[in-house]
Amino acid sequence: MPSLEDIPNYITILIAFTGAFLSALWLSLVIWTFRDMRARSRDIFAAILAALVVAVLLLPGLVIYLILRPRETLAEAYQRALEEEALLRQIEERPICPGCQRDIEPDWMVCPSCHTRLRKTCMNCGRLNELNWDICPYCGTPAATPPAASRRAAPAAPDVGPAESEEAAYEPASRRK
Ligand SMILES: [Zn+2]
Ligand SMILES: [Zn+2]
Repeated sequence: MPSLEDIPNYITILIAFTGAFLSALWLSLVIWTFRDMRARSRDIFAAILAALVVAVLLLPGLVIYLILRPRETLAEAYQRALEEEALLRQIEERPICPGCQRDIEPDWMVCPSCHTRLRKTCMNCGRLNELNWDICPYCGTPAATPPAASRRAAPAAPDVGPAESEEAAYEPASRRK
């Protein structure tokens, strides 16, 4: 049976435990505030200031900190910046027709709206190549030059041909004169 003289001792122990718990709570709140501010701001002085406000004002200081702290952490801000950048790139990379600025599919050869030529097929492997590529990236065949060269050569050949034949035809005649 605890005697009546022991009661002040119990009260002392109770007060000591409560005091230790409250100071541990105070310390952990200050540390939490410091860490939380560090996660939200690169400024070390802002973190120290926030921890000081909570250390001095205790719970009201914590309420003030929770109201005033930056809305997102540095990691969240970084994540949001990445997402915005990805979205922007997606919009920028969406292909449009150079003739009429309408949306086109990446595998179209001709714009269905304005009939602008968008792509060409490789002569060797048949895959779609950009118009300005002079070599097929899929099979390594030089792509653009053969049609252009043959088109340039084709009109030249008949020009030379008849001229030579005409010369050949006329030459004997001139020699004959
Ligand atoms: Zn078009
Ligand atoms: Zn090819």
